[in-house]
Amino acid sequence: LAARKGVKIVENCAARALEISAGRIRGVWEAGHIETSSVLLAGGAWSSLFLRRHGVSIPQLSVRSTVAATEAMHEVYAGAAAGEHIAFRRRQDGGYTLTAGGSHLLHLGPDAFRHAKKYLPALMANPFGSRYSPAAPAGYPDGWSTPRHWAPDSQSPFETMRVLNPAPERSGLRSIERNFRRLFPQLDAVRLKACWAGMIDAMPDVVPIVDKVQAIAGLVVATGMSGHGFGIGPGIGRVVADMIQGNQIGHDLTRFRLSRFSDGSAIRPGPAL
Ligand SMILES: Cc1cc2nc3c(=O)[nH]c(=O)nc-3n(C[C@H](O)[C@H](O)[C@H](O)COP(=O)(O)OP(=O)(O)OC[C@H]3O[C@@H](n4cnc5c(N)ncnc54)[C@H](O)[C@@H]3O)c2cc1C
Repeated sequence: LAARKGVKIVENCAARALEISAGRIRGVWEAGHIETSSVLLAGGAWSSLFLRRHGVSIPQLSVRSTVAATEAMHEVYAGAAAGEHIAFRRRQDGGYTLTAGGSHLLHLGPDAFRHAKKYLPALMANPFGSRYSPAAPAGYPDGWSTPRHWAPDSQSPFETMRVLNPAPERSGLRSIERNFRRLFPQLDAVRLKACWAGMIDAMPDVVPIVDKVQAIAGLVVATGMSGHGFGIGPGIGRVVADMIQGNQIGHDLTRFRLSRFSDGSAIRPGPAL
């Protein structure tokens, strides 16, 4: 549909840097150069690294979340639910998709220390929700050895590592299974047929940033979906399209503003799964 409207989609192509002059966007550097006065950064867990190169700091971190799919089993609950220790949904094939509720693995890196203070309210609300590892896999956005500066004509970290595909946490899988059985003691066994993991891009208040960057005219950011991006993505897309085109947005986006992390506002955690 987008292509029919004249949109050109370029896959396997990393934006390396913005071209900025006199505080305005002039273009984007990738392997080549795209001339434009308007850019939307929606880079998921990579957004913080991309912006930092241009002097814009956002307290975004990414946490590893592990998910499992059970084999088909009798129905213990028809819908989807999330609790303190387990979140699950019934699938059409008769199995359940399971994940730990409010629990994840944080790989420590420079940004984790840089932004630690901003995460204190979330940490206090769920003190045992985070487990820590001393380092992210090589090439991850907050990896210790991931470059923070690169030239537009050299390979960027976004090309060295194109897809974040971490291994599932074995210990996490065991507690997912245990907690599902604890919730439904009538189950004899929970047989897992698949598991996977991903990096959730998080903000300290679990609320995305959807805003214009005041310091760089022409730059809009929509990132930090904090584990809700499948659900709210279509709405965010509509709002951002209107924002870029200068249309009426029809929503109050104050809660999503970028400046809440630097204007002295208290960090108020939003609803989290
Ligand atoms: C295990 C797991 C379970 C989840 N479950 C749910 C759920 O049940 N419900 C829900 O609503 N959400 C869920 N989420 C969250 C959801 O997946 C994300 O919120 C959503 O994918 C974020 O969308 P996005 O477009 O902002 O970022 P992404 O989907 O991360 O997309 C960003 C894209 O930008 C690309 N990119 C980055 N940097 C560059 C660059 N410099 N140049 C070019 N491209 C670049 C990346 O390669 C990526 O393709 C889950 C996430 C995980 C990991």
